[in-house]
Amino acid sequence: MKRHHWLILALVLGALAGVLCHPFADSPVAQFILQNIFEPTGQVFLRLIFMIVVPMVFCGLCLGVYQLSEHHGLGQVVSRTLLYTVLASSASVFIGVSLTNILKPGAGITIPRELVVNGEKVEKIASNAESAKPIAQALVEIIPSNPLSSAVKALDGEMLALMFFALIFGIALARIEREGEKTLSLITILEQIYATCMKIVDYAMVLAPFAVFALVFSSAFKFGHQILISLSYYVAVVLGALLLQQFVVYSALLKSKGISPWKFFSQCREVYLYAFATASSNATLPRSLECAEHKLQLTPESSRFVLTVGSTANQNGTALFEGITVLFLAQIYHVDLTLGQQVQVVLMSILAGIGTAGVPGGSLPLIMILLRQVGIPPEGIGIILGVDRFLDMCRTTINVSGDLVIAALVDHKKPAL
Ligand code: ASP
Repeated sequence: MKRHHWLILALVLGALAGVLCHPFADSPVAQFILQNIFEPTGQVFLRLIFMIVVPMVFCGLCLGVYQLSEHHGLGQVVSRTLLYTVLASSASVFIGVSLTNILKPGAGITIPRELVVNGEKVEKIASNAESAKPIAQALVEIIPSNPLSSAVKALDGEMLALMFFALIFGIALARIEREGEKTLSLITILEQIYATCMKIVDYAMVLAPFAVFALVFSSAFKFGHQILISLSYYVAVVLGALLLQQFVVYSALLKSKGISPWKFFSQCREVYLYAFATASSNATLPRSLECAEHKLQLTPESSRFVLTVGSTANQNGTALFEGITVLFLAQIYHVDLTLGQQVQVVLMSILAGIGTAGVPGGSLPLIMILLRQVGIPPEGIGIILGVDRFLDMCRTTINVSGDLVIAALVDHKKPAL
């Protein structure tokens, strides 16, 4: 069996086993097994990958930018990446907001009290939302005053600052080389750190089928399928919108460059499985890089740039999800949003897709901020928390898929399919 077959098997078995065992979720034995076997197995795998994300992002981005600057291609790659990111994000939010307005998943429903999550989890998200900065300050802080501190906090929301440093570092490296400085040994070191990180990911992959089983089992076990049924209309609208993004928007973008969407999606299927199981764009980044370079055979420098930046700054699935969730909660709380407020939701969702950390649940604090801004009780987020992990798995898949699509569009070469 090929690796992706093992992953699919692990995923299906994990989901089935989790749902079947959910009725025993309160038993101490089941809790013990969950906390001491399944959760640690998933965590070991995720931590092995997160462990190399910071050095890999730094070296990958630095090398990508250095090589692009050398061939004078940086300006073009940056502007095309920006263009496609804005295009894909706007399309995704537009789809989400339109579907929610047409289908009204939140109109006239009451959510059973026991299914609304509150307490510690909501407070934690609220305190993260509390620490959100005004937009001008957030923009200024993309320039890190201490890149080491940004590296330390990269997975807690400072990834963009680390990327900014890597970007400037790569440009400056190419520049001093042009001015006659010897930079070869530094480039070799960066290349070697990058290759070593990829090797560590290979080690982690040995655990992948067990980890995928454990991660999916843990989510299904905790939440069961009851909550999915209660919120089925909302879940269906999110899933429908994500599918439209994947099969209409991404397909159209790929076709505009003469790329067959089906062949492209099929080459990327293993990456989708990782994104789905881990619910983290950052944790999936090593697999996306590997797929772009080896399967799609894209030019390494441009794909390293697009995928690394995209894993944090291009999250179409997340942007779409945020738009739908805010409008859904507005419908539940009977808050009539004016056209101006809806436009605000659209714009903020697009921006939130850029600023969201590529980790599980990264978008939740931003949703709280959005809710508060348009006058919806922020604790309303508790209504969707029970289904969030499942939707997170789905939206992360679309986030990562969008990064690969943009990498293919920006590259001057066509992918090998
Ligand atoms: N989990 C998502 C990602 O890593 C972010 C989010 O939507 O919460 O792409």
